[in-house]
Amino acid sequence: MKRRDVLRYGIVGGAAVMGWACQRKVQTVSPTVADVRIRWRLATSWPPNFPIFEHGPRRLAEMLERMSGGRFTIEVDSAGKHKAPFGVFDMVRNGTYDMGHTAAYYWKGKEPVMPLFTTVPFGMNVLEQYAWFFYGGGMQLMERAFTRHGLLSFPAGNTGVQMGGWFRKPIRSVEDFRGLKMRIPGLGGEVLARLGAEPITLPAGELYTALEKRVVDAVEWVSPAIDLTMGFQEIAEYYYLGWHEPAAELQYLVNKRRFEELPSDFQAMLTAALKETALDTTSEFFARNAEGLEILQTRYPRVKILRFPDDVIVELRRQTHLLLQEYAARDSLFREVWENQQRFQQRVRRWTEISEQYYLAIR
Ligand code: CA
Repeated sequence: MKRRDVLRYGIVGGAAVMGWACQRKVQTVSPTVADVRIRWRLATSWPPNFPIFEHGPRRLAEMLERMSGGRFTIEVDSAGKHKAPFGVFDMVRNGTYDMGHTAAYYWKGKEPVMPLFTTVPFGMNVLEQYAWFFYGGGMQLMERAFTRHGLLSFPAGNTGVQMGGWFRKPIRSVEDFRGLKMRIPGLGGEVLARLGAEPITLPAGELYTALEKRVVDAVEWVSPAIDLTMGFQEIAEYYYLGWHEPAAELQYLVNKRRFEELPSDFQAMLTAALKETALDTTSEFFARNAEGLEILQTRYPRVKILRFPDDVIVELRRQTHLLLQEYAARDSLFREVWENQQRFQQRVRRWTEISEQYYLAIR
């Protein structure tokens, strides 16, 4: 038995000081484990009571409390409390919080590879990407990226295809992106920058005002389920179809050392609850997006839902490829993950085409 396990099982009642003489006893004494009580703190990157996004971590906390008979509890703090929506990575890494609910693409300043674990412009769709995470080597690659920082990362629910954003003027050509100030984070923002746009990252709580006061000309956020709660439909007339976030996966960040200190039954409960709440969030997004679209189309007929012109899409795709190639040339882990994703996408896309796509085409 490793010394770490002795410490792990000795969290309550000063049992950690029992020392090596008691190892055999500790190993077999399950009542000690049953007495362990752990209270974790989780920081989200979202404003207080943020719809859908916050349901995942709250559901996680409720599940763990029930699964553990009240022994494992998690206090969920929104960005409204900790005031650092983009500080979740550091706060979990340094142990201020035990875990976070956030998105990997916020951490591109830490490692260029991080956005690849959220979504890739023109990349995999939701089903393909989950297949990649769990059966295509994605989880192992993500673990390599985050354990370097003392962190573990888990999928936390997928928004599905995100919309291309709210614009106050229509986009008729590539030229229309020149000088456009737009809230759009991640790789999508970098692609638009190559077309002359000025991508800006702002916390959720500031988006509506920024668009209203024309601090930004356009805002990319999520999709109807969430966007309608932000009120963008009141101030922008053009709502474009997406290309840049075909399967945006949220992220549970966990402090690796704290995870390893958990008793193994708590680790198993947490791992199961992470996956369950991720699936629940993905399902909720799909249902709420359908509802949101219905509301948008019936109550806001002024809003036009448009697709970008074909030549704009061709250019966005071309620039995406060039951008990803540049990253791959500079960073070996980026190159490894991107190449892995491309190989997997090519293989599963053939199946997507003759299953999902064909099925939809026979309506
Ligand atoms: Ca988005």
